[in-house]
Amino acid sequence: MDGSLVSRDEAKVSVYDHGLLYGDGCFEGIRVYGGRVFKLRSHLERLYRSADMIRLAPAYPLATLANAVRETVAANGLKDAYIRVLMTRGVGTLGLHPFRCPKPGTIVIVDAIQLYPEELYQRGMKVIVAKRPRIPMQCLDPAIKSLNYLNNILAKIEAIDADVLEAIMLNTDGFVSECTGDNIFAVRDGRISTPPEDAGILHGITRAFVMHELAPALGMRVEQRPIRLEDLYTADEVFLTGTAAEIIGVNAIGDHTIGSGGVGPISKQLEAEFRRRVTTEAPED
Ligand code: PMP
Repeated sequence: MDGSLVSRDEAKVSVYDHGLLYGDGCFEGIRVYGGRVFKLRSHLERLYRSADMIRLAPAYPLATLANAVRETVAANGLKDAYIRVLMTRGVGTLGLHPFRCPKPGTIVIVDAIQLYPEELYQRGMKVIVAKRPRIPMQCLDPAIKSLNYLNNILAKIEAIDADVLEAIMLNTDGFVSECTGDNIFAVRDGRISTPPEDAGILHGITRAFVMHELAPALGMRVEQRPIRLEDLYTADEVFLTGTAAEIIGVNAIGDHTIGSGGVGPISKQLEAEFRRRVTTEAPED
């Protein structure tokens, strides 16, 4: 925290931190595989872009924070873990004014990760479509991984109320954007597609890994194109990607069974290639 290693019990933030008062800040979730911090550079670059987009000047240069992340992983002695990196606006007054907070807060947490239950990876996961749309880019660009996740949380509550763990969110034009904590892909006739950035999505690191590394390695390519709900209902396969979720197949969306109701062959191939890469390479870049 703010440059020093502290125990879990000592790690405290002020009630005057605007990260708490207003959700004013940004964050990243990163994985550690076999002691290597997967895609550390991509995650930190996205964090610094998020900070820039909310006009938060980071307390440390990127390279310093990268070292702090590695040191925190080492201090926890975990070989496979989840890292949460936060930049908060810092301690200020009770008013909104972000520039009256003299120093941003910097936090790195390393802990165990809880994935979706293993059986869902085998059988596929059921999701719903949230009634609540994803917040429009003009209001709060979902490309900013901000500490204000209430749009996602309210959609997640819709999912939980429907007894599932994830919800697809449409944008205000009615196109598919992403899920509450995952990006989304569809497969039809062997062609893989995913919503474009201007659908209003987080530019997922796992999404980019699938598009630019995993799919090409398997001789496939991913097209970014506007996707309607109808395209998902009639797709051969649908899968989600995310740092915590990795790659997970979707077997049903509400009452609509996807493909043959299991995890499709392309999703399985991508999952296998994902597992192979993170266990053998897990590059930091
Ligand atoms: N969309 C949202 C809203 C997310 O919070 C996340 C991260 N959990 C993702 C997509 C997936 O992004 P990444 O692959 O970078 O984890």
